[in-house]
Amino acid sequence: MRESFKKIAIIAHDGKKAEMVGFFKDHIDQLTGVEIVATGTTGSHLAKAGLEVDAKLSGPMGGDAQIAAMVAEGDIDAVLFFRDPLGKHPHEPDVQMLLRLCDLYDVPLATNPASATLLLNGIDVIKAKAKVE
Ligand code: PGA
Repeated sequence: MRESFKKIAIIAHDGKKAEMVGFFKDHIDQLTGVEIVATGTTGSHLAKAGLEVDAKLSGPMGGDAQIAAMVAEGDIDAVLFFRDPLGKHPHEPDVQMLLRLCDLYDVPLATNPASATLLLNGIDVIKAKAKVE
């Protein structure tokens, strides 16, 4: 089980971007001290909302694949991916690769706001524990 969460990846399909921005505005305090990596368009939305973001390529242009490679290299501590289950995505193979690599390397992965909330709360608990120890 991971003990530090220094860098997380955030991705949102187009149909979930508005919800994703609202979510992170509400959870901004939980991201203090955490580096954020995002796919291109998601990253520009987060930057507009006031977060500092390392934005990779747009998802359909390889952004999910870039983040998947970072997961494989041990560079990402958690992935929050607001997926749109009703949309069609030209880069679905890249998305599947990212999800597979999260499972392969046991990287925490949330694919909807409810699980993202639990994941961020879990990170808070781990941070609080680390402070006490
Ligand atoms: P985007 O990519 O942030 O560049 O839109 C997200 C995705 O659909 O994977």
